[in-house]
Amino acid sequence: MNFDQSPMLVIWEATQACDLACVHCRASAQSERNPEELSTEQGYRLLDQIKSFGDPLMVFTGGDPLKRPDLFDLIRYSVKIGLKTNVTPSATPLLTNEAIDRFKEAGVARMAISVDGHDAASHDDFRGIPGTFDRAMEALRHARDIERYQRQQGERSWQRHPLPVARHRVLVLGTGAMGGEIVDWLGRVGLAARGWNRRSPEPLTTLLGQCEVVVCALPLTEATEGILDARAFAAMPKGGYVVNVARGAHVVETDLIEAVRSGHLAGAALDVQRREPMPDDDPLWSVPGITITPHIAAQSSPEVICAQFVAALRAQQRGERAPNAVDRSLGY
Ligand code: SF4
Repeated sequence: MNFDQSPMLVIWEATQACDLACVHCRASAQSERNPEELSTEQGYRLLDQIKSFGDPLMVFTGGDPLKRPDLFDLIRYSVKIGLKTNVTPSATPLLTNEAIDRFKEAGVARMAISVDGHDAASHDDFRGIPGTFDRAMEALRHARDIERYQRQQGERSWQRHPLPVARHRVLVLGTGAMGGEIVDWLGRVGLAARGWNRRSPEPLTTLLGQCEVVVCALPLTEATEGILDARAFAAMPKGGYVVNVARGAHVVETDLIEAVRSGHLAGAALDVQRREPMPDDDPLWSVPGITITPHIAAQSSPEVICAQFVAALRAQQRGERAPNAVDRSLGY
């Protein structure tokens, strides 16, 4: 990736206004907003331009971004168009627990708060306003849910509440050995993940419309070949992302290229392709936003293959059905 053309990180100093008085401030921070700051509408257009770079991390900073009354609208828009959105508020009275909860609800992935001294005196001296250290600590405690864990301690309850790593919802196509495991692991790291298979009651297009990330872990059958086509991509929200770790033929590659080039999808990670190994002239190589890996998502070791072979042989010797046996009527 060329970071001159597609930056990895974009930091928007969304306002000059800030109620702190740090000794190192280079923003010439002042209490009131500069009337020449970008309007909300201009902010949306700026975010669109940032999104057109690809998928940079987006950081709202300032001054103090909370001085902008439209901050939450801008954050929601940033999340909606698929930017991983972060915020660095100043530790002022504006940084209430409610504001932190609103960051979470709006889909902020990370919040950073500066701590500049080992105690209140040194921190507040640096930040120029008494009480700033305590506010920063309180905000960090609330963001990490420490109050809840303290309540739990009183109840002798050892219960984790994983922080969501992202607000993106993930739909995993296929709920077998591989898909089920993926849903399970994504859930453990705090992602909202759900599985779909041919027996699921909801139509696939409905679920596609509710998930920003789609992971394909389906078996390849007549029914699933080309399942990720133009219709499926159109059903996904703008800025969606596709991951294929199953078989190349699940994806109609020309449709995917069109969906990514048009900007409807943010991109795709294809561990498998229709033509493997991919020839030099395959158009997938050069689509910005599409990542190609050479079928390496799962590499079976000789030990695993041998163990599976022995288990199947022993099952057959006992006259039993082999584990992982292919059901020819189903095609997998
Ligand atoms: S928090 Fe940032 S913008 Fe505010 S005074 Fe300090 S350095 Fe300046």
